[in-house]
Amino acid sequence: MNTDKIIDFSALEPDVQSLIKESIVVREHSYAPYSNFKVGAAVLCSDGTICSGCNIENASYPVGTCAERVAIGKAVSEGKRKFKVLVVVADKRNNSFVSPCGFCRQYISEFGDIPVYLSSPDMKNALRTTVSYLLPYAFDNSYLNVSQ
Ligand SMILES: [Zn+2]
Repeated sequence: MNTDKIIDFSALEPDVQSLIKESIVVREHSYAPYSNFKVGAAVLCSDGTICSGCNIENASYPVGTCAERVAIGKAVSEGKRKFKVLVVVADKRNNSFVSPCGFCRQYISEFGDIPVYLSSPDMKNALRTTVSYLLPYAFDNSYLNVSQ
């Protein structure tokens, strides 16, 4: 089922607006000397706090880290594992919102099927989707015979 929906900024829930604003701010800390493509992300944790991150590139390209994983990694390192919503902000490409890479989709799915909003620094609108729509048939721990 396609859950994608573009919503005007003014119609977004206040929490999502805050996450977009935070992502815009943190995006400016992006370390992207190779691509010059800045990305910011923020998660709303179940305790109401926001953790944000930017992309951090590396001269050895695969070593670089995407903004989504920095934001979630920061949250997990602070003891937070339940998230209500994730926002990713980057400049649009070909008039489309930028979505998480495959690596990040798997990383995000580890923490549940949450709403994901894709937006851009112009704060005009956002595309609402979900982790399960971005990554159907995700690999999860049910395959591993382990408990968390
Ligand atoms: Zn990524």
